[in-house]
Amino acid sequence: MKKAWGRKLLQGLYNYFLFFLLVAFLVTCTTMLFVSVLSESLEIELTNENLQTAAKLTFVNVVLLSVLFTVIDAVRRKLTTEKATKHIISAAREVVKGDFDVRIEPISNFSADDNYNAIIDCFNTMTAELASVETLRTDFIANVSHEMKTPLTVIQNYGTLLQSPDLSDEKRIEYARAVSNASRRLADMMTNILKLNRLENQQIYPKTETYDLGEQLCENLLQFENVWETREIGIETDIGENIYVSADKELLSLVWNNLFSNAFKFTENGGTVTLSLLADGPYAVVKVQDTGCGMSAEVGAHIFEKFYQGDTSHATQGNGLGLALVKRVVDIMQGEIAVESAVGLGTTFTVKIRRDEHDLEEIR
Ligand code: ADP
Repeated sequence: MKKAWGRKLLQGLYNYFLFFLLVAFLVTCTTMLFVSVLSESLEIELTNENLQTAAKLTFVNVVLLSVLFTVIDAVRRKLTTEKATKHIISAAREVVKGDFDVRIEPISNFSADDNYNAIIDCFNTMTAELASVETLRTDFIANVSHEMKTPLTVIQNYGTLLQSPDLSDEKRIEYARAVSNASRRLADMMTNILKLNRLENQQIYPKTETYDLGEQLCENLLQFENVWETREIGIETDIGENIYVSADKELLSLVWNNLFSNAFKFTENGGTVTLSLLADGPYAVVKVQDTGCGMSAEVGAHIFEKFYQGDTSHATQGNGLGLALVKRVVDIMQGEIAVESAVGLGTTFTVKIRRDEHDLEEIR
């Protein structure tokens, strides 16, 4: 190692030697010119011998000083830049091989260049980010496989049962219904995964149009009429008039449908679901409130994560992707979503999106 470094130094000196000689020659000529002008103006007699000795000394001095400073600079670079560069290169090679857990220690020696620590900081942030994306990816695959297994097992088991010849009509209908429910769950999950994937990869570009938000909310809520009638859930609405938004109607519909379906799903028969829309300055504020089972703060902290299901008793009616989709759409619309909930009392989701600019100007 030491030998290699010594050879490198000699090679460096050799490469620079011609340059040193040229510099020494120029400095010597300049110095001699200066000395002869000075001696003339001071009327000092200098012999040719004196001048030759001075020229030789200057030449050798400059060559020696150049060599000395080059060696000092090589050592300085070895201590400051080379060590850091080597660390960064070897860490980058690990990342290329797929190891995202690699981190570089900041350089703490006194002569270290601060720019290297800035690079190291960026590098460590980058690998941490890559590692979390990798974890998300593997978690996602694990979750999808897990979620697919349950309906597939149901389909397989009921499919086998359906094959038995001495099955009553009643049982056959029951098993066939179980198979079709499980396959619907699978299809719903796949649709949601595809939607989420397209939203996350920004393959869906919002198609903006200006429309009355109150009308859309009423239309979407009415799709659940059957549910609230059969389960005797009371509906209360307070929809402000003429509140316009410029947004992608289809995407926002996804938000309201998910919030309504959760509100009905988590509310006991005889409970109440309340929908309100009001204008708050430049925002349209939508609140979907229910008197259902509510959720703890612990559950509330995770509900926007993919595949998270806080209430497993309703697990068969969803796949934990609804609120992840809702959050993504609200983010794309540059809106805000918040949740307030108390266990046993109910939940309120509040969505804020910007109102249409013309609508706002009319008010001003
Ligand atoms: P799922 O399709 O399983 O309902 P979501 O992403 O829509 O998935 O919701 C995730 C979790 O958030 C649910 O499992 C539930 O624990 C909680 N949650 C969502 N909405 C409500 C609500 N209105 N009341 C109580 N809990 C809710």
